[in-house]
Amino acid sequence: MNLFSLLDQAAARFPGRGAVFRGTEQFHSFAELRSRALRIAAGLRAVGRPGDRIAIATENVPEYVELFFAIWAAGMAATPVNAKLHPRELVQILEDSGASIVFVSPKLAGGLEQALDGSTAASCRRIIIGGEDYTAMAAGDEWAGPIDPDPQALGWLFYTSGTTGRSKGAMLSHRNLLAMTVAHLADVEAVDEDCSLLHAAPMSHGSGLYMAAYVARGARQVVPASSAFEPAEFLDLCDRHPGCGAFLAPTMVQRLRLEAERGGRRPANLRSIVYGGGPMYVEELRRSLAVFGPVFAQIYGQGEAPMTIASLRRRDHASDDDAVLGSVGFARSGVEVAVVDADGRPLPTGEVGEIVCRGDVVMAGYWNNPKATAEALRGGWLFTGDMGSFDGRGYLTLRDRSKDVIISGGSNIYPREVEEVLLRHPDVAEVCVTGQPDPEWGEIVVAFIVAEPGREISPGGLDEHCNASIARFKRPKRYLFVEDLPKNNYGKVVKRDLRARLAGG
Ligand code: AMP
Repeated sequence: MNLFSLLDQAAARFPGRGAVFRGTEQFHSFAELRSRALRIAAGLRAVGRPGDRIAIATENVPEYVELFFAIWAAGMAATPVNAKLHPRELVQILEDSGASIVFVSPKLAGGLEQALDGSTAASCRRIIIGGEDYTAMAAGDEWAGPIDPDPQALGWLFYTSGTTGRSKGAMLSHRNLLAMTVAHLADVEAVDEDCSLLHAAPMSHGSGLYMAAYVARGARQVVPASSAFEPAEFLDLCDRHPGCGAFLAPTMVQRLRLEAERGGRRPANLRSIVYGGGPMYVEELRRSLAVFGPVFAQIYGQGEAPMTIASLRRRDHASDDDAVLGSVGFARSGVEVAVVDADGRPLPTGEVGEIVCRGDVVMAGYWNNPKATAEALRGGWLFTGDMGSFDGRGYLTLRDRSKDVIISGGSNIYPREVEEVLLRHPDVAEVCVTGQPDPEWGEIVVAFIVAEPGREISPGGLDEHCNASIARFKRPKRYLFVEDLPKNNYGKVVKRDLRARLAGG
């Protein structure tokens, strides 16, 4: 099965309903979306071959939706690139993927041209989204040839966010993406034609991955007019579209909550916020639940098993048990999840080890990178690099990436646990805990602290606060007070930068 069939079916059932919106304005109905996708597909087949990688480099725009389906109808592989990457990083992805075409937004086109100069990707054809060539492509004849039904065909070459090194291309097949889509509808949220997906997070990643589930159910895709995440605009859109849902990174949830609190606003049609991609601290989750009500579900996944390893259901968010709220929930439908030791042997309930998973969502490997593939896929399992443990009820709790665990005086310390405690201090706004090499202890625990505006915090006060709830050896030996924390384009704290800061003294 080809993902294009999701749009084909939706267009047959809901031809006249709005499929894509820019802000509040309808961009295309389902019948128009299908037709445009097929026209662009014909344009792609006129210049390329099945299996070609077609890059998309743009901030969130309504055209993203037709491009995905056009590329799939043409039997090619979408290669979305985060718009906030440096042009040189964008070129690296074009080089690595060998993309033959890049659809680029007018905003990014200039920077890309410069960065392509002298690159091996210089022959990659540039088509400006909304430009003359693009418009001509979307106005031609529809693709009338066969649509490749092979579920193993590459549908999305997904470049990881690269918090631990250079970005790698996870090869996601149509089968992987369908398994993800079905599991989303089964585990996370029920979607129908009266629902809308607000693309506030990058469509090159989580938000774009959810597009297929919403198209399959005849629901709306809403791209904010700002092409970005503006909390006030987001809240407005929630009043203007039916049954609004969105995927948000935890830092975006926090910004939305602050905006809602500031304006005393409760968005009328906010149905669902799915968060994940990084840790959501229990304290923040409780505050957000108090403001928005029971609209939250959490997902745990990674590019290699997109959005689909575990999820914490909406009803679990009603729990007053911190262990439930601090977990990533249960293994997803159709995904086996286990926790293993350093030799890959399963560990008993309660013990911390590396999280592994297998199932139809797991990628085939990394593009042109057999070494990294052999490290990640072993014995049919995906080794996630995340540490965690199951409890007796089946809840999976993520500790940290194995690389982030601090080993001090021979004891393992999970930064997340210390961060959760520090965030309960009323004057702490943000925190990141990491290890610093130390001749005596191997590593010591260091906390970078961002204070709430106008508050002074003393290390002594933080020590006292920690002593009240965690073992002394986990308590930071050093506190560094900073204005803000370095974050990547997905809002994830870049621990690597903080560690480098420590190494530099
Ligand atoms: P990416 O491949 O860029 O989506 O990054 C995936 C990584 O983000 C995972 O391996 C985890 O380390 C982290 N992550 C994803 N979801 C969650 C979550 N719900 N809670 C904490 N960390 C998460």
